[in-house]
Amino acid sequence: MRLNDNLVETFRILPTQIKALKRLRIETVGDLLFHFPTRYGDMAEVVSISNLKKGDTAVVFGKISGLKTSKAFRKRIPMAEGVVTDSTGKIKIVWFHQAYLAKMMAEGSNVRVEGKVSDKNGQLYFSNPKIENTPDLFTKTKSHSLYPIYPETRGLTSNWIYHKIKMILSIMSKRHFDIIKDPIPENILKTYNLPNLKTSLIYIHTPQQESHAQVARKRFAFEEIFFIQLQRQRMRYEFKESAAFTIDKKMEEVEKFTARFPFILTLAQKKSIEHVMADLRSGHPMSRLLEGDVGSGKTAVAATAVYAVSTSKPFDSAQGRLQTFGNLQTAYMAPTEILAQQHFESFIKYFKHLPINIALITGSGCRKFPSKLNPDGFTDISRSQLLKWVASGEIAVLIGTHALIQKSVKFKHLALVIVDEQHRFGTAQRQKLVNKNEITPHLLSMTATPIPRTLALTLYGDLDLSLIDEMPVGRKKIITEIITPETRGRAYEQIEKELKAGRQLYVICPRIDEPDPTKESAVQAKSVKEEAKRLKKEIFPEYEIGILHGKMRPVEKEKTMLDFSAQGDGKGKKIDILVATSVVEVGVNVENASLIIIEGAERFGLAQLHQLRGRVIRSNHQAYCYVFAESKSSKTTDRLKALTTAKNGFELAEFDLAQRGAGELSGTKQWGLSDLGMEAIKNLKMVEAARQEAMKLIERDPTLSQFPIIKERSESNSSKIHFE
Ligand code: ADP
Ligand code: MG
Repeated sequence: MRLNDNLVETFRILPTQIKALKRLRIETVGDLLFHFPTRYGDMAEVVSISNLKKGDTAVVFGKISGLKTSKAFRKRIPMAEGVVTDSTGKIKIVWFHQAYLAKMMAEGSNVRVEGKVSDKNGQLYFSNPKIENTPDLFTKTKSHSLYPIYPETRGLTSNWIYHKIKMILSIMSKRHFDIIKDPIPENILKTYNLPNLKTSLIYIHTPQQESHAQVARKRFAFEEIFFIQLQRQRMRYEFKESAAFTIDKKMEEVEKFTARFPFILTLAQKKSIEHVMADLRSGHPMSRLLEGDVGSGKTAVAATAVYAVSTSKPFDSAQGRLQTFGNLQTAYMAPTEILAQQHFESFIKYFKHLPINIALITGSGCRKFPSKLNPDGFTDISRSQLLKWVASGEIAVLIGTHALIQKSVKFKHLALVIVDEQHRFGTAQRQKLVNKNEITPHLLSMTATPIPRTLALTLYGDLDLSLIDEMPVGRKKIITEIITPETRGRAYEQIEKELKAGRQLYVICPRIDEPDPTKESAVQAKSVKEEAKRLKKEIFPEYEIGILHGKMRPVEKEKTMLDFSAQGDGKGKKIDILVATSVVEVGVNVENASLIIIEGAERFGLAQLHQLRGRVIRSNHQAYCYVFAESKSSKTTDRLKALTTAKNGFELAEFDLAQRGAGELSGTKQWGLSDLGMEAIKNLKMVEAARQEAMKLIERDPTLSQFPIIKERSESNSSKIHFE
């Protein structure tokens, strides 16, 4: 058996299992070996069934049989039952309301049951216990009581995976094992007391004791972070080595520009602007992350950077002096069309006193300011015309969505790239924009996602950081309330008062309209379309209600946003209530909208909830956020309560991280980290160690030419190891 062998050719595998493996992206023997358990069950805690007594909370281990579902109490409550048998006896299991549990178990399979022992007419039984599959071949020995639990997916049980991995581990010869080269240098393993790759693989799947599992997981977690760090540190190194336009704008001029803003900059904004100006002046490309809560005023900082760049002339190296024609250019990338459009409009305001051409490019069309006919307004232009003007350097500021990074968009003197809400963009996309020119453009990334320090160090290890850690003066704290189904009515009354006073309301729903096939109809989350109808009919009949979601055509979206847009006091609004999906999450700016309802809040992450809430902290109106939860579980309410108590987004992020258990794959979805990687993120020491080691390595050998395994590994996107 070899690591490269296809599983399908190695084992007999059912078609449903093949599909399941595909979903997990497992094809080869090696892939399976690198599929790690999320946690471990412990047999040491197991009690013999014959020893069970009424009132015990106990764990038993045995074979399950007699599974059936029925209805109890005059057929109103769905229930299921079964019997679990071990070598000493048997005990009945009853589940009320959880009939599906019985359906997930297979007759005759081995299970672990944990719960309280009840008694009815002298007969002991488990009522609503926790139950999970355990490996059939697992036998408890004195020294060995842990069994691994793998994430299950339809068609593939943890048990099956364990079975196959055990086989692989016992069949694979030493020679084959030795082919897998350890990607972590030996000296690093030594420094941090980490086991080598082979030992770690054995430990992680078949730990003899808890410490084995722990140290193996620690090793793989370190490995993941170490390789992310290597990639980032290499990028940082390359960035810093390359040439950039030197933009030396006098601070007095910068201050003249910022004095035109209709507000006074906060100290944090001023500091960030100073950082940016120093970077632009340095001759090396800026690579800076501007992190600040929603509404903290990042756009003003970005606009100031754009000002400095677009009023500077390119240096003509042939002539050895500044060119007299053409401007340095900026590409400003926003995550949605709505936002790109909004930025386009605010930039027109900021720059209309200057002779600077600004253009907008999105999937649905192109615009240019100023228009030839109307010097105060913009005009629609064709894409080919726009591309021509961008290529000739006539357009100084190009704002857009992903459309910006297409190959056909060529700049003449691209000097600055701004990426708004940058967590939405992958590193690869960022690179794409940056690589368009020989002279590396300065890069300013902006994010409102408050992320824990460990995560920032890891994911943004290639960037310098500026924090906007204060809000503009006069902003009132958003009043956030967690609303249960019982208090819904009262919340609507409060909202109505504000609507009457002229304010506007966002209602965020988790879905657009189509039913969620994985949920029973009773627990369907609210949908934009249904909720809009319901609100109009039952709750707010005298107000105008609009809807907004990702499946609408761009022109429709734009019209809705326009109708919802209003002056600070609400003048000009045609819509009072906007029912939307989380598309409004990022950046949308309507000052008069001071109310937000978030339906099905438990479905959103805390950071996302915080962002959504940020929609209503745009002005000095008192803002309200109503968080509607369907679930009453204490974990949910605790989590949501953090929204009302945390002082800022960073605190929330730390809380979110601390609460996240292993096996909740949110890390993968949100940050591209595995569960193990997320475990590492909780450990500042480990993150710092991985970062230090990666930095040392890159300083010593920037191209990693002396470390071919590391080089190959850090250049591949896969987290899996490559074999010869
Ligand atoms: P974000 O950081 O979320 O991108 P924006 O840049 O969109 O925030 O700014 C939010 C709102 O605050 C805008 O209406 C902007 O004009 C306003 N604003 C920005 N800076 C200040 C300030 N220093 N004082 C008052 N209002 C400000
Ligand atoms: Mg913004």
